[in-house]
Amino acid sequence: MTDSPVDQNSAPDTPTPRRKPKPERARLNGRPLKPSTMMMGHGYDPELSEGSLKAPIFLTSTFAFPSAADGKRHFEGITGKRPGGAEGLVYSRFNGPNQEILEDRLSIWDGAEDALTFSSGMTAICILMLAYVGQGDVIVHSGPLYAATEGFVAKVLAKFGVTYVDFPAGATRDELDAVLMRAKRQASESGGKVAMVYLESPGNPTNALVDVEAVRDARDAILGTSCPIAIDNTFLGPLWQRPLDHGADIVAYSLTKYVGGHSDLVAGSIAGAKHWMDPVRALRNTMGGIVDPNTAWMLLRSLETVELRMQRAGENAAKVCAFLKSHPKVTGLGYLGDIQDVRQQDIYDRHCLGAGSTFSVFLKGGEAECFRFLDNLQIAKLAVSLGGTETLASHPASMTHLSVPDERKAALGITDALVRISVGIEDADDLIADFAQALDHV
Ligand SMILES: *Cc1c(COP(=O)(O)O)cnc(C)c1O
Repeated sequence: MTDSPVDQNSAPDTPTPRRKPKPERARLNGRPLKPSTMMMGHGYDPELSEGSLKAPIFLTSTFAFPSAADGKRHFEGITGKRPGGAEGLVYSRFNGPNQEILEDRLSIWDGAEDALTFSSGMTAICILMLAYVGQGDVIVHSGPLYAATEGFVAKVLAKFGVTYVDFPAGATRDELDAVLMRAKRQASESGGKVAMVYLESPGNPTNALVDVEAVRDARDAILGTSCPIAIDNTFLGPLWQRPLDHGADIVAYSLTKYVGGHSDLVAGSIAGAKHWMDPVRALRNTMGGIVDPNTAWMLLRSLETVELRMQRAGENAAKVCAFLKSHPKVTGLGYLGDIQDVRQQDIYDRHCLGAGSTFSVFLKGGEAECFRFLDNLQIAKLAVSLGGTETLASHPASMTHLSVPDERKAALGITDALVRISVGIEDADDLIADFAQALDHV
């Protein structure tokens, strides 16, 4: 240990500066470094951990203060008595080294000032919403949302007098204006405000895109900028869509999917400007729900390869979709690389950097044909979830969307003939051979 002994002469109420990692290199010769480079070291200084190249996993529930004055100062930061948050670590419900490094690295991908991590995507989304809504408020959201998110708004927040107004993913500026006006009237009638515009794009499982720029313009005109726009970017982020660049204020993730990427953990995050994160951090401090150190460490490993994995999965999906599109037993695709609608293509061109690797296939027939296809897959696994290294296939109408009423399923285009596929990083020709033989059984 090289630490110098405690200086007996230092004033007892002078807080000790926290041993922070060296200012990380974000530029080289004036040139900004790319996220994939920064994933190897950003936010971690080996010198603070015996030279260990990789961050150790910090399994501790609490952190020792250098002095009582430091403890007081940290608590002033935690409780909001002093703005700017805690300057040091206090207690593991609030934060820890692995989670801090992860939050620093996640912010980089979305170009965000700050990020917060959670024990699941749903914990992130629920704490985000709870931090912003009050009694009588209205949430405006795009449809469809991830079923648990939709349920949290419609059933749980409803218990506290929060109502919602929803709109279809492809809504135009005029339609959005009308929706926000209606939400504003609804809020004033119930004595509240429009607390949040919450988006999910692309929608699951149909891949319908939301025009985030149009939502931003409508929000600015009708609600003003104090109402945040949050967006679930799980399906295309962090590589293929950067919603903060298009007018969203807060981006939310299930890190369980592409970011974790190996179907071996559950976690979530949000990111955005610090002033949007602060109320959520305060509620997370109260409730808990931060990701655990081990899972945070796994996510740091995952982030080193997220670009590689997503690129390969995206290339595989393009090849698989080219094969499926021309197959006689396939009647259509819900794939962002093969959009049939002019408005949706326009949103894609403005917002997306890649078509992703999760898509839907419509087979000739219905549930029986889809089940025969799924039951005969040899390489692809029959499972829900997405974004892992392995290819997964499922039948939304009878699985993830089973509880959605039939009329809403019909309106969203979730038919019995739809199979959802998340393509992994296997060999593309092997995957095509698997889909070909499974289709032969249909
Ligand atoms: C999986 C998922 C969630 C929920 O995330 P968990 O990590 O399972 O809690 C939220 N939104 C989308 C779009 C998802 O795919």
